[in-house]
Amino acid sequence: MKRAGGMPLAYAVGRASFRHLTLDVDERVLIPRVETEVLVDRVLERCTPKTRTIADIGTGSGAIALSLAFEAEFERVFATDVSLDAVNVAAANAASFAKALKSPVEFRNGSLLAPLRGEKLDAIVCNPPYISFAEITELPPDVRDWEPSLALLCGQDGLSVTRELVAQAPDALVRGGFLALEVDTVRAGTVAEMIAVDGRYSEIEVLLDLTGRERFVFARRV
Ligand code: SAM
Ligand code: GLN
Repeated sequence: MKRAGGMPLAYAVGRASFRHLTLDVDERVLIPRVETEVLVDRVLERCTPKTRTIADIGTGSGAIALSLAFEAEFERVFATDVSLDAVNVAAANAASFAKALKSPVEFRNGSLLAPLRGEKLDAIVCNPPYISFAEITELPPDVRDWEPSLALLCGQDGLSVTRELVAQAPDALVRGGFLALEVDTVRAGTVAEMIAVDGRYSEIEVLLDLTGRERFVFARRV
């Protein structure tokens, strides 16, 4: 029995549910989390008929991109990941839902917005790695020992990927387009401040998860 080694249940059964979808997952991708289901709600609430092109950066299993494409109509949904393994898992999930999706999903491999160079986006959604190397020891063993480090951890106190995306996104977003980030609850204020200091965003919002913790930061391109 694989679970004896502490393998998370979702990897043992090869499936995880996320909103309306049951996704195939394995150790190449993060097991999608319940807080990220809330991120999708907050994104969908802000989408209008003018939100035609949306990108999920760091798509992992495809949870966010495929939920957006399943639940709403966009002209294009981009799903990118720096991990080619993740892109392959997400694309396989997309293939199994192909007939049920309301929007077409395109997959790209590469770091942050590099694979979308030249595209104009109405919205960018990202659940980046946001745990610092110093915090590794605080993670539960089933997370630390099984889930991809690339999905969980990053430098600069867990902010390097977020910081780089905040810097890149204004060049890709249309005026009035929005950036939606999942963040570590202890760093929401820091991320909001980082966005404010950038100067190219307005309407900066810190939103709560279902446990009442500050978990998402949204902002609009001026
Ligand atoms: N979006 C999925 C979800 O919410 O379940 C996965 C999120 S996981 C926390 C972060 C994802 O970002 C991983 O799939 C990881 O491979 C990817 N990633 C890490 N650094 C990245 C980068 N510089 N550019 C693009 N993707 C990156
Ligand atoms: N929320 C996840 C955890 O605590 C981490 C996800 C992330 O780094 N984006 O394990």
